[in-house]
Amino acid sequence: MSQLSKSDVQSVENKLNERKKALLEEVRKELDQRENQHLASVMGNHPGDSGDVSLADWLADLNILRVDRQVRELREIETKLAQVRDGTANECIDCGKPIGLQRLLAYPTAMRCVVCQEKHEHIYQHGSHPGL
Ligand SMILES: [Zn+2]
Repeated sequence: MSQLSKSDVQSVENKLNERKKALLEEVRKELDQRENQHLASVMGNHPGDSGDVSLADWLADLNILRVDRQVRELREIETKLAQVRDGTANECIDCGKPIGLQRLLAYPTAMRCVVCQEKHEHIYQHGSHPGL
């Protein structure tokens, strides 16, 4: 049973949209503070999610390195939102088992179940704690 109920899906989607809003606010502030007031105002004219261009792609195209972290997280959020629409938000991308509602609510962009996430982190963090 890997399907979430409608209200569960809604909760996860709300979390994603809240996070997305917070990130966009960070990006906007970052642009505001610097010399890029023009970009900040352009952002206000972005066509939004209904357009063909994803917001993350659009920001990446601007190539503003200091909002790189936000852009990366926005990409994760957009990927996850697409999964929510496809009904696959609760499927681990590695093993296909359910990620679990609690985990999704705590980490709305989680792509893997706990087991696969741990494996994944072992691979990518190998050598970061030498000699322990
Ligand atoms: Zn898994």
